[in-house]
Amino acid sequence: MKKQFAVIGLGRFGISVSTELYKLGHDVLAIDINEAKVNEIINDSTHSAVGDGTDERTLRNLGITNFDHVIVAIGDDIQASMLCTLLLKDMGIESVWVKAQSYYHHKVLDKLGADKIIHPEHDMGNRIAQHLVSEKVIDY
Ligand code: ATP
Repeated sequence: MKKQFAVIGLGRFGISVSTELYKLGHDVLAIDINEAKVNEIINDSTHSAVGDGTDERTLRNLGITNFDHVIVAIGDDIQASMLCTLLLKDMGIESVWVKAQSYYHHKVLDKLGADKIIHPEHDMGNRIAQHLVSEKVIDY
């Protein structure tokens, strides 16, 4: 079934998540504060928009409350990531997944009500290790 996703922050992680969701046939609204990033995703998203994820009015104008799933992929600006998460949860978004930068970032996101907290490098490292081991088992 087709689902509606919004992705806020279009760094490597946000672009990759948006593109894959779109390829899988879902509706994707891609948002970034930087116009150049938004231009990169125009052909790989249903809608794209320049906007500040920490501005409640902007988020409301973009219709964010109509989305069941929002991914916050703002990276280095931890304060922006936390404020965006807080706004989304306050607006009643059911599923908010957030990319975390550190242990402290993770702890605060948890308190703010983030539904899933992702550490891409850590999570991918784990998966690669498991993959390597399972390949070895097959080799034997
Ligand atoms: P990656 O590892 O995924 O490339 P990163 O962790 O290096 O990303 P950044 O490049 O700092 O993260 O941020 C990801 C994106 O979030 C950037 O494209 C940036 O423009 C965007 N961004 C930062 N602040 C905001 C904001 N307030 N609203 C919307 N987008 C924002």
